[in-house]
Amino acid sequence: MKALSKLHAREGLWMTRAPVPEIGADDVLIKINKTGICGTDIHIWNWDEWAQKTVPVPLITGHEFAGEIVELGANVEGLSIGQRCSGEGHLIGTQSRQSRAGKFHLDPATRGIGVNEQGAFAEYLRLPAFNVVPLPDGISDDIGAILDPLGNAVHTALSFDLVGEDVLITGAGPIGIMAAAVARHVGARHVVITDVNPDRLALAEKVADVVTVNVAEEELAPVIARLKMKQGFDVGLEMSGNQRALDQMVEAMTMGGRIAMLGIPPGKSPVDWSRIVFKAITIKGVYGREIFETWYKMIAMLENGLDVSGIITHRFPVDEFEAGFAAMKSGQSGKVVLDWRK
Ligand code: NAD
Ligand code: ZN
Repeated sequence: MKALSKLHAREGLWMTRAPVPEIGADDVLIKINKTGICGTDIHIWNWDEWAQKTVPVPLITGHEFAGEIVELGANVEGLSIGQRCSGEGHLIGTQSRQSRAGKFHLDPATRGIGVNEQGAFAEYLRLPAFNVVPLPDGISDDIGAILDPLGNAVHTALSFDLVGEDVLITGAGPIGIMAAAVARHVGARHVVITDVNPDRLALAEKVADVVTVNVAEEELAPVIARLKMKQGFDVGLEMSGNQRALDQMVEAMTMGGRIAMLGIPPGKSPVDWSRIVFKAITIKGVYGREIFETWYKMIAMLENGLDVSGIITHRFPVDEFEAGFAAMKSGQSGKVVLDWRK
């Protein structure tokens, strides 16, 4: 089969041929239709410090996918050949306290497809049946291929009650923009999204009903006044990984505000803790998505009017993967989807 692999310990990914994976009794074999390119795949392409210490070589990369089941292991029940699906890319253990309590997303023994284990950028993927998430007819393969990052957005956005709340999202990357659409969908009052990249803010306006602020040019205080908020934002979703954005968020929060942090700041970023203490702010770190509660909720929302389709800005046949990665690296794109059937 065709597979997009990290063949060498240097910058780049290579299209190669690999054997179709053999499945175990508890696995399924999935024929991949579409895949999404993630920021993680860009780290692996660039072979940065994180990738060098995390990713074995050679490895088939990719973890955002939609496809259909073509083979079932002997023990697999409740799934069928021909069934369309996406799936959770975190392969969890069964021994930790968290797993045994059903908090699968908190299992410290988790391994990621396309990061630690063979991934989804291939014509076929082996996946434990446990990880499979069937796709309803109303959810396209394009959307199926971006459920992983939509799950990050949904998990973060649903960290706190948003009904009637004023929500600040820092970072209008694909995940921040999808989180804005989710916040709107679940009934937030004002949703404000910031970035320093005007293309990303323009995309945010297309995809979600939000107020955009270019923080390279404008402060948040006048926006808070214009929207007639009493003190500031009730809930913050940090989705830029930028230290200045977090700082600005803390400043713009109301007393007792709640912040969910998905963005990954580089290294040990300095934080003014006294402001967090005196404002009595709650900060929650967010990793991945809840297995499988987030999947359940996002599919329910997609089937009931949540529309994030505009976040896919580029589609390429897989043989043009280099153009796909270039689009992602440009900082001008939303999600980029590769088609494995062409
Ligand atoms: P992205 O890099 O595409 O988007 C980040 C955006 O933040 C960019 O548009 C950038 O211009 C903007 N930005 C930079 N400085 C800013 C500032 N001062 N104020 C406001 N915006 C600013 O990333 P993404 O794929 O949308 O992911 C969002 C973040 O979530 C990233 O940091 C990513 O590493 C992280 N992430 C975390 C998890 C997790 O499990 N915790 C999972 C996926 C992604
Ligand atoms: Zn991803």
